[in-house]
Amino acid sequence: MDNELLERFEKVREEIPDDVMLVAVSKTKPIEDIKALYKAGQKVFGENKVQELTAKAEVLPDDIEWHMIGHLQRNKVKYIAPFVSLIHSVDSERLLKEIDKRAAQNNRTIDCLLQIDISGEETKFGLDEKEAATILSKALTDEFKHVRIRGLMGMAAHADEAIVKKQFKDLKTVYDQLRGLETTDKQVFNLLSMGMSNDYPIAISCGSNIVRVGSKIFGERVYV
Ligand SMILES: *Cc1c(COP(=O)(O)O)cnc(C)c1O
Repeated sequence: MDNELLERFEKVREEIPDDVMLVAVSKTKPIEDIKALYKAGQKVFGENKVQELTAKAEVLPDDIEWHMIGHLQRNKVKYIAPFVSLIHSVDSERLLKEIDKRAAQNNRTIDCLLQIDISGEETKFGLDEKEAATILSKALTDEFKHVRIRGLMGMAAHADEAIVKKQFKDLKTVYDQLRGLETTDKQVFNLLSMGMSNDYPIAISCGSNIVRVGSKIFGERVYV
């Protein structure tokens, strides 16, 4: 069991260039699996539910970097604010404001990505380019001292490779445009999170520098 997990992990890791960050998406998966990957050198894990994220963080090593990748409700920000290292899923100014407030209370600055809706599917959360530009400009003001917008995140549709590729390319274009704004600090705004188990090689070819890979490493998730 453990060996299969490590084999899958090594296989994925071999496919990912050194300058692309791998977030191992451990949602629904047990502590033991995370420990096994941690021992194999993986330090960055992603979860999509606040309760699961905090429960796991509590019992696992302190030097794990926890990424929140799922839709985040404002009333739950306080639970992850003390320790989360990157929030991929900022989809409103109100949410960013709450993250800023909770970060301040914890004497922290929290790194965030703006989630862009590229899939065209109504079920997916996210901003359009204009909304993202507005939030990005506001985030540079004194009102938001405790958050840093590090870049963008997006999820492609479950579709043909050609469609997925087009969506990733579109997101890369938005990323480049926002990065090119005079007010944007390129040293800070430098993360583009796109690509999951089914499409991370395409995402990397389109310029992704963070991939979020779950089932290809941990095996299929079983929801009961
Ligand atoms: C679950 C999830 C992933 C990983 O999905 P896999 O297809 O298992 O790799 C990536 N990103 C987000 C936002 C997710 O919720």
